[in-house]
Amino acid sequence: MSRVLIVGAGHAGATLAGLLRQAGHRGPVELFGDEVDLPYHRPPLSKKFTGGELEQWLRPPEFYREQDITVRLGEPVTTIDRDGCRVRTASGEFHRYDHLVLATGAEPRALPVPGADLAGVVSLRTLADARMLRTCIDERRSLVIVGGGYIGLEVAAVARSCGVEVTVVEREDRVLARVASPRLSEILAAHHREQGTRIVTGAEVTRIDGAGGRARAVVLGDGTTIPSEAVLVGVGAVPRDRLAADAGLLCAQGVVVDEHARTSDPRILAIGDVTRRPLASGALVRLESIPSATEQARQALATITGAAPVAAEVPWFWSDQFDLKLKIAGLVPATPSTVLRGDPATGRFALFHHHGGTVTAVESANSPGEFMAGKKFIASRARIDPDRLADASVPLRDVVHQYGA
Ligand SMILES: Cc1cc2nc3c(=O)[nH]c(=O)nc-3n(C[C@H](O)[C@H](O)[C@H](O)COP(=O)(O)OP(=O)(O)OC[C@H]3O[C@@H](n4cnc5c(N)ncnc54)[C@H](O)[C@@H]3O)c2cc1C
Repeated sequence: MSRVLIVGAGHAGATLAGLLRQAGHRGPVELFGDEVDLPYHRPPLSKKFTGGELEQWLRPPEFYREQDITVRLGEPVTTIDRDGCRVRTASGEFHRYDHLVLATGAEPRALPVPGADLAGVVSLRTLADARMLRTCIDERRSLVIVGGGYIGLEVAAVARSCGVEVTVVEREDRVLARVASPRLSEILAAHHREQGTRIVTGAEVTRIDGAGGRARAVVLGDGTTIPSEAVLVGVGAVPRDRLAADAGLLCAQGVVVDEHARTSDPRILAIGDVTRRPLASGALVRLESIPSATEQARQALATITGAAPVAAEVPWFWSDQFDLKLKIAGLVPATPSTVLRGDPATGRFALFHHHGGTVTAVESANSPGEFMAGKKFIASRARIDPDRLADASVPLRDVVHQYGA
């Protein structure tokens, strides 16, 4: 009958609330959100922001009432009183907890250049942001995207498909430099260019020029000026860990948690994008993905209800760009040895990254079988024969020569 307070009505928080009821938890469950919308799926925001499919609720609105989950929207939690086991909200109310779960997510990293506050310059995290992006694109026919990460490239793909003139400006020497292998970056950049997107790498935005309070052009370090009235800033996200840090919880660019979602205070758990979490390998990482948020919600459920610990999952996520359904598992090493299976020209391929034959990551496009096999190889530390893996005529089950390497 313990009282569970969840701060953050996003993917992780709302998933945990539902799981608690599903597991038979009978005590009060309260979900606090600073957004005004009911919990929704964020992935469509960068993939479906044209065409009216933005509002995809995680649960139907009546779910929360039927499950006796109290949802307090537009009600940010401002402080945690750890000694009194209570939180304070922006309206000045106090709420007591037995278990407190921080699921406050992340927010877009700001672009620290003059003009970033002009009208027409948007970032993308919330439904409200996506609606604004849609309006910008509907009203103007050109878009500059600052940052060639997954969100930037997804938006580029949708905007190009609508006939918008798109330029992606990336500071590193390749798109997806932080998260993907050089080979995947190269394949995706070529695909985007074929569709008419201009990609400028190794270029830093130094200012955004405007007129009448509206963006008019993006200016690069070498003086190049790219005219555009709509600018999407997609330069990464930072964890919303201020609430936790102010309460004295251990934070290191994210709330530090263990594999049971516990913070440095045993009564306080943290889940989702706000956390820095351990993987099975012991590495502490910050993941921004739905599968990670869901896995940690299950970890928190087990901790709160005293159920058996959750088995560790291989981290994975997906991205849609034009006709490419990408699925990625594991962490791509900085200098991978890579096996290509399939043919990028057909849009169906998988890149398996390995250390001396032990697979550590797979990046796949339109290849669900390769993705599933790669995920299993990583989990079982399978040693593969690179030559056999590269030969698409050899069945995937026949490429492993040792498990648990
Ligand atoms: C445009 C976009 C596309 C994405 N696409 C994919 C994808 O294809 N695949 C994938 O795996 N992942 C994708 N992601 C990432 C995925 O959406 C996140 O990993 C996931 O939403 C994390 O869930 P969360 O609950 O930790 O954070 P969030 O979903 O961000 O929820 C956190 C909530 O907490 C609220 N909050 C913060 N502070 C407070 C406070 N003090 N009081 C009350 N409420 C507070 C926030 O307003 C927010 O509503 C995408 C993300 C974005 C933005």
